[in-house]
Amino acid sequence: MDKVVLKALAKINLGLDVVGKKANGYHEVRMIMQNINIYDKVCMKKLAEDEIKLETSLSFLPVDDNNLAYRAAKLMKDEFGITQGVSIKIDKRIPVSAGLAGGSSDAAAVMIGMKKLFDIDVTKEKLKELGVRLGADVPFCIQRGTALAEGIGEVLTELPPIKRCNLLVAKPKLFVPTKVIYQNLKLDENTIHPDIDGLMEDMSNNDLYGMASKMGNVLESVSISMHPIIQEIKDKMLELGAVNSLMSGSGPTVFGIFDDEDKLEEAYKKLKETNLAPYVVTTHTYDVKK
Ligand code: ATP
Repeated sequence: MDKVVLKALAKINLGLDVVGKKANGYHEVRMIMQNINIYDKVCMKKLAEDEIKLETSLSFLPVDDNNLAYRAAKLMKDEFGITQGVSIKIDKRIPVSAGLAGGSSDAAAVMIGMKKLFDIDVTKEKLKELGVRLGADVPFCIQRGTALAEGIGEVLTELPPIKRCNLLVAKPKLFVPTKVIYQNLKLDENTIHPDIDGLMEDMSNNDLYGMASKMGNVLESVSISMHPIIQEIKDKMLELGAVNSLMSGSGPTVFGIFDDEDKLEEAYKKLKETNLAPYVVTTHTYDVKK
């Protein structure tokens, strides 16, 4: 194979809880990860020369070792002794620094692309083990679908696909570094933890309303206290008919779940008319099994 084209899917968190902190400073999480139909297009080709050539459609993104996709290719080359080079072109559609795991998903796609291009004999499990060196979300981005993520996000339990949900996704014009949000999270007796087990039960019963009512993200309070616009977008989505709305990851992206496609389209138009978010799209959950 000389060329591969892959979809690097974005994810949302239907639930995100932080249950502790490890001695090394990493937070222990319980998150429900769900792929959505927003993706970067990753095109990879073999090169005769031993180099990694990266291009992205966003000129402000790094194309060297600071890009997770580059690091993923380097990791695969080093780990499996690949002496040929690779060219990687990424058409970025997932908003950057959004809480949608764009960089992690590009890295995962590049790892899978390297396996395919160079016919590397490696299991997905092994790729996931390697992937965590690049970032805690990378193993999920390799596994894809719907999952409970524990540990620092790398201990994955696959969950059955949920019934397709209509989503409104909006990102305000903000840069929210994940690290800062976690650093400012204070866990004490006043912390409101989402009911992750109850959420999973409603998901397995295809109970959209139960699921929506149990969605929760413990990082919201931190991100919202720094950027109240996140709350404004959540409220606006509810006003426009969302069954519920939630911030994804450490934000600032907010998604709303809609039980009706016409309502979703109407809400999309109305949200676009506000100045709350320059990025507003309609999408749906992505079932990787279909
Ligand atoms: P997460 O949900 O895992 O916290 P995110 O969606 O918040 O991730 P990303 O879009 O992955 O954030 O990017 C965060 C930072 O990583 C940006 O500052 C960006 O410059 C850098 N970065 C490195 N590689 C990439 C990539 N391939 N795509 C996007 N950003 C990248």
